[in-house]
Amino acid sequence: MTPTRPAIWLPRQVWIKNEWGLIQRGNAVLAPIFFAIAHDNQHGPSLLVLSLFWAQLRKFVVFLGHILGITPVDIHFWHPTSLPCKNMQAAFLDIPGHITLRDVPLPKPGAGEVRVKLNQVGICGSDVHLFLGHRLLNQPTVIGHEGLGIIDSLGAGVMERTVGERVIIEPNIPCRQCRYCLSGRGTICPNKRTIGLNEPGCFAEYITLPADYCWAVADTVSDADAVTVEPMAVAVHALFLSGAKPGDTIAVIGLGAIGLLLTHLALALGYRVFVTERNADKVKIATDLGAESVSPTGESTPAEQSRMLADVWLSNDVCAVFECAGSAITASLATSAAPRGSEVVLVGLSEKPAAFTPLKVAREGIHLVPSIIYDHPFDFQRTLQLIQARVIRPGFIISSHHPLRNLQTALETAAGGLETKLVVSI
Ligand SMILES: [Zn+2]
Ligand SMILES: [Zn+2]
Repeated sequence: MTPTRPAIWLPRQVWIKNEWGLIQRGNAVLAPIFFAIAHDNQHGPSLLVLSLFWAQLRKFVVFLGHILGITPVDIHFWHPTSLPCKNMQAAFLDIPGHITLRDVPLPKPGAGEVRVKLNQVGICGSDVHLFLGHRLLNQPTVIGHEGLGIIDSLGAGVMERTVGERVIIEPNIPCRQCRYCLSGRGTICPNKRTIGLNEPGCFAEYITLPADYCWAVADTVSDADAVTVEPMAVAVHALFLSGAKPGDTIAVIGLGAIGLLLTHLALALGYRVFVTERNADKVKIATDLGAESVSPTGESTPAEQSRMLADVWLSNDVCAVFECAGSAITASLATSAAPRGSEVVLVGLSEKPAAFTPLKVAREGIHLVPSIIYDHPFDFQRTLQLIQARVIRPGFIISSHHPLRNLQTALETAAGGLETKLVVSI
């Protein structure tokens, strides 16, 4: 039987906020003093020195303890930033069309999770669909999934993340156990947890999620480019899923956020892009980027529109058509006008049935390619790399900012369809 060794209680670390609002490790014994000093907003640098010094001193005490046969026991102290409030504000979608702000308990990160203090959250087309009741939720839910924030707490066992890291949220979390996940198809996992849908969402002050589903963003990346990474990753996934290569010509139907981002990405990589969209302002954004507009007039019949698009696309060797409008009509249009041998990539998510002619699809070798969200971890990785390399700047789509307390009106404005991307400040 091993003899019981005496124990020495050594505080390991606490977290304190310095004058820049950053959170850093500090000496637990001196924490109350540090905390008091930190709040006079002048002693950030000296706090840093003291914190670093404590780390060295602690190592030395542990070393001495080993020589003397004393086992160090780590104790974790309170988190000062969580002391002032045990509650947070969260915006609930109670019933379609109705947002209510409520105080709820601050979520605690579970094992393997981190807690993120959110700063900015983009409004997605899917948030608008939920808000309008096109897709019904079973219970009052905090929606929103395009989150940017700072890690403020680590759950048990999280070693590789740091408090204070600026991160973006990857909101779709496959189960990693079903046959689809095991065969590398996590995008269609039926047990997928989706933040802002069947998990608490980002229109709140804090969120918890698995540590490997939030991505550190380099300081060189602006908030605007960071908060638009999630929709950008959808566009990255769709473009690279198709067989179209840089130098090829593609067509994009619908210039919502995803259509615009896909156009931006393709142009930046050297594709030629034809865009089709009813809203003249959005067409202007795309043509300013370098796209060519081919937009049938509102008066023409679907058959005339299809013929017009088919002529332009065929004569310009369009090899992939990206349906980003998300309506049954445009999905039908994309398929009927698709040139021989091309792909129709279904990016928009219409819940209504669309029509296609099997004879045309089969005889002309049209490939229907479903594109949903993004592959973990590659598409977020690629998107961040493309942004850091300054190939793409997705932040250009942001059209307005709104405070969380005005989420109701922000969602109503987004539902109007005239803006390209609304961002909520938390
Ligand atoms: Zn989204
Ligand atoms: Zn799964």
